[in-house]
Amino acid sequence: MKPTNTLFSSLGTTIFTVMSQLAVEHQSINLGQGFPDGNGPADVRTMAATFLEDRPNQYPPMMGDPDLREAVAVHAQRFYGLDVDWRQEVMVTCGATEALAACLLGLINPGDEVILLEPLYDCYLPMVRLAGGVPKFVQLKPPHWELPRSELTAAFGAKTKAILINSPMNPAGKVFTEEELAFIAELITRYDAYAICDEVYEHLVFDGRKHHPLMCQPGMRGRSARIGSAGKTFSLTGWKVGYVTAPPAILHTAAKAHQFLTFTTAPNLQRAVAYGLGKDDSYFRDLADDLQRKRDSFAAGLSRIGFDVPPTQGTYFLNADFSGLGFDGDDVAFCHHLTTVAGVTPIPVSAFYEGAGPRTFVRFAFCKEDDVLAAALDRLARHFGKK
Ligand code: PMP
Ligand code: GLN
Repeated sequence: MKPTNTLFSSLGTTIFTVMSQLAVEHQSINLGQGFPDGNGPADVRTMAATFLEDRPNQYPPMMGDPDLREAVAVHAQRFYGLDVDWRQEVMVTCGATEALAACLLGLINPGDEVILLEPLYDCYLPMVRLAGGVPKFVQLKPPHWELPRSELTAAFGAKTKAILINSPMNPAGKVFTEEELAFIAELITRYDAYAICDEVYEHLVFDGRKHHPLMCQPGMRGRSARIGSAGKTFSLTGWKVGYVTAPPAILHTAAKAHQFLTFTTAPNLQRAVAYGLGKDDSYFRDLADDLQRKRDSFAAGLSRIGFDVPPTQGTYFLNADFSGLGFDGDDVAFCHHLTTVAGVTPIPVSAFYEGAGPRTFVRFAFCKEDDVLAAALDRLARHFGKK
């Protein structure tokens, strides 16, 4: 028989699914795949339930429910002072994943170069390749995840079509500073490129830091697409409601891709997310504060056991260096070992690198109930003889 598509047939299964399956098999505490174990805000779910009963359940408009599109624009003004015309500049997608696909497919012609910062979220590279783009990698490395400015500058060139930026960055936990964003913005302008900004963790930022959209930098309003996700902002990862904000020149073509990718996403979940985006400041503050508290206690516990834990500024992930624990093997072997022997599952950080990446770091998701995090620390402490 003729072979199936070579791009996809040559890919393995995503590391998140692989580790989640292994965790289930070994009844391990799953701190690998990033999803909260709570059920999301009750009022947002109640709104969804009410809407499911009272409102139409047929296809919503292709660009998204108008209430949600307007709410996305109001949210952008409220948090970042961005002036957004929701009729022209906002599209609702099936999660941030589809938003990324639509933006990449809408921007990239075969042969265009796309700059990807490693560590990179797992869907970026296959999507760039699917669009015919040529990836140019620039590596950030733990523990400081500094932006390597000269390498980034060298990666830009006449063929650069776009850069994909994820801030707050999964798995690094890095929140790009305004100064770093200004540096990137200057390169984008100089090379007449676009930016696709994955900002799904925009509200998960700690220690009084602020998330800054690249779109707010000089010259970037007309060159960037900003992507958000209700999955992260409302701890409802299964809902798959995402949104793109972009100038019409970018959004119109991304919409052409969206119409043939998914066309729409569940209308009443969209309506409930519209309600959610209008919640009080206290909701957004408490979300970050609660995660910051979990981060602090989990990081302290890991440090007591002997992990070296660099600070995490945003997202719900932290990275831990296990080289002080005497394990003989790389991060993939370590994750398998922890899952099958200690009963706790992280994700190997090397999975986020296409090139040779760090080999002694693992990522833990701390968006879990306190007792689950405590039980994981307890298992790890016993395993490493610290109990
Ligand atoms: N981007 C990043 C950086 C992520 O971590 C995730 C994980 N969910 C996504 C995009 C996908 O978001 P969604 O579930 O809304 O598709
Ligand atoms: N974004 C999640 C993570 O980084 C995983 C989402 C998925 O499994 N596709 O863990």
